[in-house]
Amino acid sequence: MTIELEYTEEIERSTAGLYERVKHVIPEMEWPVHAPYVGAIEEWKKRQSAVILAHNYQTPEIFYGVADFTGDSLALAHKAAETDADVIVMCGVHFMAETAKLLNPEKTVLIPDMLAGCSLADSITGEDIRKLRSEYPGVPVVTYVNTSADVKAETDVCCTSSNAVKVVEALGTDRVIFLPDEYLGNYVATQTDVEVILWKGHCEVHEQFKPSDLRSLRKQYDNISIIAHPECPPNVLGEADFVGSTSQLINFVETERPERVMMVTECSMSDNVAVEFPELEFIRPCNLCPHMKRITLPKILHSLQNLQAPVEIDPAIAKRARRAVERMLEIS
Ligand code: SF4
Repeated sequence: MTIELEYTEEIERSTAGLYERVKHVIPEMEWPVHAPYVGAIEEWKKRQSAVILAHNYQTPEIFYGVADFTGDSLALAHKAAETDADVIVMCGVHFMAETAKLLNPEKTVLIPDMLAGCSLADSITGEDIRKLRSEYPGVPVVTYVNTSADVKAETDVCCTSSNAVKVVEALGTDRVIFLPDEYLGNYVATQTDVEVILWKGHCEVHEQFKPSDLRSLRKQYDNISIIAHPECPPNVLGEADFVGSTSQLINFVETERPERVMMVTECSMSDNVAVEFPELEFIRPCNLCPHMKRITLPKILHSLQNLQAPVEIDPAIAKRARRAVERMLEIS
């Protein structure tokens, strides 16, 4: 699906202010490709009474160009629960669109590319949880939101990387089963006295970071702050100055204003934060999530024009999965 749009003088004028803001991270030669879509998407949002939610890992032309609400998966879950719009377009991956649908069963929830998946969500099934429950009878199951509705339906409560410790402790038990991210679960275990039973799911983006890369960057750059997402392996987190969810990493940059910072997470997040803090130096390497990158401006426009692709969940599964997400929202 390719929709060719023209970069007219009027579009150049109307998007000049926006480009001024993002010029630090989007090359000038790329803007004529993005700008016509920004205008067309705004128009179609109004026609369809739609809002666009964009995760922190979306590219800057989406994050700053067309999104109505941005944030980590928890913030997007809250926004999905609050919106009055008839249509929600989720610029993120499939489990995020499913979560929005769970909280808004009457609304149309669209994802611009159905194939935008997640290695963590793919690492576990509802059947796996049923087996774990029989192995550990009575132990509650806490599931990271990066999972399918089928998995959430088997869960006592969901969590995100920003509220995982709070959710684990809110259950008031000595042990919990924490799924599916082994590394996030490991990190949670270092922050609480609750025993955490783990699963071996990993994020294919964060598991690529190596402690040796971080050590060599520290030698290369004076005064560098290395801040990492807890989906990274423990030996990588051990090299970091600060560990936190995407929103906590942003807060760190905002409050500490490090002269140089490396965000050990997905690349677009680093770019999006760099737009807000052009005076700071953001050091790469970072890694791209191929699933998040399936979402593009042309696909968003196509999605709005054709109301594609709607996310549907079996009502019986949705009812149980919703309960687990709502419990999380009550705690956080
Ligand atoms: S960055 Fe990792 S956890 Fe996030 S969507 Fe991509 S694969 Fe999944």
